[in-house]
Amino acid sequence: MPHKIARVALDVPLPKLFDYKGNGLTEADIGRRVKVPFGRKEWVGLLLEIADTSDCPPEKLKPVIEADRNRAPLADDVLALLRFCASYYHYPIGQIALAALPTALRRWKFQAPRAAVRYALSSSGRLALPDGLPPRAVAQRRLAARLSSGPAETAELAGLCANASQLLRDWQDKGWLEIVQGENAATRATLPQLLPAQQSACDQVGSRLHEFAPFLLHGITGSGKTEVYLRLVDRVLATGRQALILVPEIGLTPQFTQRVAARFPDTPISVLHSGLSEGERLQRWQQAANGRARIVLGTRLSVFTPLPDLGLIIVDEEHDASFSQQEGLRYSARDLAVFRARQRNIPVILGSATPSLESWQNAEAGRYILLNLPARATGAKLPDLRLVDTRLEKPEEGLSRPALKTIGETLARGEQVLVFINRRGYAPVLHCPACAWVAPCPRCSSRLTLHLREHRLRCHHCGHEEKIPAQCPACGNPDIRALGQGTQRVEDALARHFPEANMVRADRDATRRKGSWETMQAQIHAGEANLIIGTQLIAKGHDFPNLTLVVVLDADGALFSLDFRAEERLFAQLMQVAGRAGRADKPGQVLIQTGFPQHPLFAHLLAHDFAGFAHEQLEIRQKGMLPPFSHQAVLRAEAARLADALDWLHAARALAPSMPAVEIFEPVGAPMLKKAGLERAQLWLQSASRADLQQLLRAWMPELHKRPPRNVRWHLDVDPAEN
Ligand code: ADP
Ligand code: ZN
Ligand code: ZN
Repeated sequence: MPHKIARVALDVPLPKLFDYKGNGLTEADIGRRVKVPFGRKEWVGLLLEIADTSDCPPEKLKPVIEADRNRAPLADDVLALLRFCASYYHYPIGQIALAALPTALRRWKFQAPRAAVRYALSSSGRLALPDGLPPRAVAQRRLAARLSSGPAETAELAGLCANASQLLRDWQDKGWLEIVQGENAATRATLPQLLPAQQSACDQVGSRLHEFAPFLLHGITGSGKTEVYLRLVDRVLATGRQALILVPEIGLTPQFTQRVAARFPDTPISVLHSGLSEGERLQRWQQAANGRARIVLGTRLSVFTPLPDLGLIIVDEEHDASFSQQEGLRYSARDLAVFRARQRNIPVILGSATPSLESWQNAEAGRYILLNLPARATGAKLPDLRLVDTRLEKPEEGLSRPALKTIGETLARGEQVLVFINRRGYAPVLHCPACAWVAPCPRCSSRLTLHLREHRLRCHHCGHEEKIPAQCPACGNPDIRALGQGTQRVEDALARHFPEANMVRADRDATRRKGSWETMQAQIHAGEANLIIGTQLIAKGHDFPNLTLVVVLDADGALFSLDFRAEERLFAQLMQVAGRAGRADKPGQVLIQTGFPQHPLFAHLLAHDFAGFAHEQLEIRQKGMLPPFSHQAVLRAEAARLADALDWLHAARALAPSMPAVEIFEPVGAPMLKKAGLERAQLWLQSASRADLQQLLRAWMPELHKRPPRNVRWHLDVDPAEN
């Protein structure tokens, strides 16, 4: 019998499959890993198709070397998800397929390392740790504090202090620690009586467990969303099916994991987080794939996990930016979760205190079913939000007098303070402090960016340019300026004002480094730190019961950012950050410094009114035909010189088929022009019709792949989350 052709996905930046002589492989092997020769090496690929013929002449075809028969092939629905992903994001299927596998499977042979051990405090440990430790043993206390918030694995604990493994062994010898199995806690949680709104949410989802039904669960922090998730997971497990819970990167905390584990002490759970070793990840992934794990809890990449009995998908904090991958394959795990639910005919719940406007609009339009939890489940009071008008109370080095005073009082009471600095790379815009005018683009609903050196205002969306006006066009004020002040010195200033305070800094870098975010949380829990500077959101799931004051500096840059999503993000951040302040027994306070106290965003924020805010934003979006009322894609290019990037984009634009329903703007420099030594430019596409935009991209992308440029790197971003 003649050999069939094996069509294999390889991790190569080309949007195609590679043909090999099938070597006995059949349709039943689709989804298996295969080893194939490629160039001079042997590669790991994924068998995606079996064909009778190939475009390649038979004498040129090499045979597949080997197929992995120790593992079941990837299931059809996962393969379909990968294919959808490739076609929707116009990204090479092989790169998606290999990225979706655990890294251990990207190599042919993987030597599984020694199994990880999970430690928990024993009952005598509960008394001895951390109080039995010398006050100066900071690292040890941190380790103990982490363990007292729940069991933890060696890999995570090793990140907390240098000699962790020695200490753990010592403490185990002393009987303070015990080794525990799985994620499960010993204690079974008692269930609270559901509030009527929670009950109604559970009933609505529960009545549609066997069909595709997308739900948007809206409720402030503490309104009982997680409780609703857990009840529904319980129902789904009872029908013999698996549940997939996706959480933001920073939301996958030991406390959250522990809460899920405590609710289902007899259920095998696979937790997939970035701190796992390759072996651990592989093992947990396999348990999900072979059906042994009944709950999978993970970050965005987990959306690709094979789950034979999948019955429910939950996306917690669905608005969170970490669900959008910004490098390599740019995808939205939230959108893929909805795709997957539709494909599997199951419900999906998107939950948030501040849903994305995309999801909110889907609910308004009746495509999603809105479930609302209107109040805090524990009856705890909402934090008291106040604005500090920085036109009256001029901040020095970023800090106003009322803010300093309140920080001092809070620290003096022995409570913790979070100073939140919103410092994302906002490009400067021109504004008038007298009437709050901000230079708009006359051609699109973007704002103009200030380029001081060239004395020009420029639109990074459509390419429009103009001179800097001599005075405010709205009120005639000659004193117009750039918005957004440096916050570099805030940290030093705080250190000077509060020399006694123990400061820690939770910024993006710190939270990215492996283990350091856990360390920091443990420090805050243990009370080692009382003044926390956050440039990165201290997100959901971190219950710092002693944190009673949040001070927000520098929110104004986001109010007038040229990114039309900046206000949406700011609102979400402020709501979330406010949710950090105060717990049941200690009321919280939030101070926001702003030069624009009359901005409508604050009126909604102070009233804790997300719906009002969303309504207003959606009106603006609709007028400007911005997402979710239109669909966008952006072709980004980078090169040593901006001119090369722009030239390539112009050439690319000329290759685009013309479609009346899709607007293709002029190539422009990116708002953040230079990054990592390269100069960046971009070309925006926009259409009211997703189908038309996709049709254009389908015709256009192969043309670009045919002519790889030499001095330019490029990629396409579909539904871009950022400008
Ligand atoms: P969210 O996920 O919206 O932040 P949670 O589900 O975590 O809210 O609930 C917040 C707190 O209220 C938790 O401590 C939870 O145990 C508690 N809680 C939730 N639902 C109820 C309820 N029906 N009765 C009493 N307490 C509840
Ligand atoms: Zn414009
Ligand atoms: Zn003015």
